[in-house]
Amino acid sequence: MTRSAGTVVTFGEALVSVRSAGPLAIGSPLTMHAAGAELNVAVGLARLGHAASWGGVLGDDELGEFLLRSLAAERVDASRVRRDVLPTGVMFLEARTPDVSRVFYHRKGSAGAQLTPHDVDRLLDRDLAWLHLTGITPALSERARAAVLHAAETCRRRSVPFSVDVNFRSKLWSAPEAAEVLPRLIEGAEVVIGSPEELVLVAPEGKTVEAAAAELLSRGVGEVVAKLGAAGARAYTAQGVFTAPAFPVRAVDTVGAGDAFTAGYLSARLDGEDADGRLRRGNLLGAFAVGQLGDWEGLPRRDELGLLDLG
Ligand code: ADP
Repeated sequence: MTRSAGTVVTFGEALVSVRSAGPLAIGSPLTMHAAGAELNVAVGLARLGHAASWGGVLGDDELGEFLLRSLAAERVDASRVRRDVLPTGVMFLEARTPDVSRVFYHRKGSAGAQLTPHDVDRLLDRDLAWLHLTGITPALSERARAAVLHAAETCRRRSVPFSVDVNFRSKLWSAPEAAEVLPRLIEGAEVVIGSPEELVLVAPEGKTVEAAAAELLSRGVGEVVAKLGAAGARAYTAQGVFTAPAFPVRAVDTVGAGDAFTAGYLSARLDGEDADGRLRRGNLLGAFAVGQLGDWEGLPRRDELGLLDLG
C-alpha cells in the first residue's frame, strides 16, 4: 500500500458537544466531546494512520483548551489554530430514542465563524497532500465564506487535490444561497461527496443524482460520491458507476456517519485503492459510526480495519 506523503488538512468550525446518553432530565449524566464535521474527518483519518491536521479558530477559553487536548490525544495536528476573543462554540445533544437525536446549537457569535483567508494561508503553507472542505464553513459568515473559497482557489492554483462534502445545513442558510456559492467551491475538486439531494443542489442543470453527477464530471470534478445511508454508497467516476452496500449493523446513533464515511473513503483514496475499495472503506467506517454512540469515538484504528472487515 502506498501512503501519500504530506499532510491531509481539514478546517472548519469545531464545537464542544455536551451530550446526554438518554432523554435529558434532572440528574442526567452529561459528557463532553469534541465535534464538528471537519474535525470528525481529521480524527477518522488520523486513527487510520494518516498525517492529519485540523485548523480553524477557537475561543481563548476552557472549551477551546478542551478541543485542543482532544485533538492532541487523537494525534491530529492543531498547531496552526488561531485563538480569538469570541467564545468557542458549544452544542447540546440529547439521544432520545436509539435512532433519533435532538441537537441544540449555540454557535451564533462564536469563534469558529471568524476564520479569514489569512488563517487559511497559514494553514495551507506546508507540504499538503490533500485538503478536505465542507459546505458548512461558507454558511457560517461572510469571512468564513471568503476563507473557504480562497482555500479551494489556492488548491486549484497549486494543483493540490481537494474534496468537498456538500453538507448543506438548511438551518444555516437557504438552498438558493447555497446553490449560488457551492458550485464555485467544488469547481475542480477531486472528490465531491453528498446525499443525492445535496448533489442535485450543487449541479445547476442536474434534476436527478445521475444527471447531477454527469454534469459535475463534465465540469472537471474527479469523482462524485453519493452517500445512501443504510443502502451504502455509490461513486460516479470517469471509469463508470460503482455501488457498494452498507455493512449490516444495528444503528444506535447515526450522528457522524457521513463524516466517518468520508474519512474512510479519503483514506482509501490516499492509499491508492480502487473505487470498490474506497466505497468499502467508507461504508465500513460509516458502519462503525452508526453502530456506537458518539460522532467519531467508535472509529477504528488502522490495525483494526482488517480484523473487523468481515464482509
Ligand atoms: P449522513 O450522515 O451524511 O446523512 P448517511 O446517512 O448516508 O450520511 O450515512 C453515511 C454512511 O454511513 C452510509 O453511506 C453508510 O456507509 C453508513 N450508514 C449509514 N446508515 C447506516 C446503517 N443504518 N447501517 C449501516 N451503515 C450505515
